[in-house]
Amino acid sequence: CSSTTPITATLFPGDGIGPEIAESVKKVFTTAGVPINWEEHYVSTEIDPRTQSFLTWESLESVRRNKVGLKGPMATPIGKGHRSLNLTLRKELNLYASVVRGVVESLKIITRQASLRVAEYAFHYAKTHGRERVSAIHKANIMQKTDGLFLKCCREVAEKYPEITCEEVVIDNCCMMLVKNPALFDVLVMPNLYGDIISDLCAGLVGGLGLTPSCNIGEDGVALAEAVHGSAPDIAGKNLANPTALLLSGVMMLRHLKLNEQAEQIHSAIINAIAEGKYRRADLGGSSTTTDFTKAICDHL
Ligand code: NAD
Repeated sequence: CSSTTPITATLFPGDGIGPEIAESVKKVFTTAGVPINWEEHYVSTEIDPRTQSFLTWESLESVRRNKVGLKGPMATPIGKGHRSLNLTLRKELNLYASVVRGVVESLKIITRQASLRVAEYAFHYAKTHGRERVSAIHKANIMQKTDGLFLKCCREVAEKYPEITCEEVVIDNCCMMLVKNPALFDVLVMPNLYGDIISDLCAGLVGGLGLTPSCNIGEDGVALAEAVHGSAPDIAGKNLANPTALLLSGVMMLRHLKLNEQAEQIHSAIINAIAEGKYRRADLGGSSTTTDFTKAICDHL
């Protein structure tokens, strides 16, 4: 893999702890010999009228051109007249596999098109990743029209994948089952708001927000990986952040690029560094700094 032509990927270090954990990712990827050239883009201090947000048109173009990127957390600026940075990215780049149009002034909007494409993504993901079951999470017993449409779309897509078991689980029951026995589930698909809540619940199950990665996949193969957590202003600039979530997001990005060998190496090095127990971050009961923990991962590599 080391002879592979370098791939250019966009990197948004982001705000708060973002630059510190992005530095960890760059160091670990270099140590692992990952053939990636980073094109770094920072959040602007002025609103770009073309995006109506602090994200510049050029930074969006960078992701469109490279088709792949890794994003650090971005603080949502307080004030009016501009769009949230995260919303701008997801909307402008059409990263629908994490976005189903949600709630507007207490109206819940579920569309057939968005439901079909996210269900299609879930079943295709299950099929191509050796998974056996997709659970459609809903509250259609109460929200019969909106969640009912979502379920109907999931059923339609399921028919095309007879080898994958499809089940429907009401969201409250899903929460209880996740806490009691998360291994009951395989792949979950649900509207955005439920995913927002369930992903934090799952982060709590595995050790907290410092550990959980994600990847937003959209049309034309655009993929933007990012940690689930925010910019953690309470610990920013103190060398205290756990870089694992952004690192594992980077691993998801490498798998998307089919750089599976380096993805596995980095994944194992992270797991081994945590298991070794000597250099854990505070959120995992240790007292190491971000840089010490990053060095431990590089040593395992
Ligand atoms: P947060 O995720 O930033 O922090 C919540 C708690 O988790 C804090 O105590 C923080 O110290 C801790 N934490 C988070 N990441 C950590 C890490 N890597 N290592 C160790 N501890 C970590 O949530 P918040 O405080 O609600 O939001 C802060 C800012 O981030 C807000 O402006 C918010 O809008 C933004 N935000 C951005 C994203 C994103 O970019 N996708 C997601 C959530 C929040």
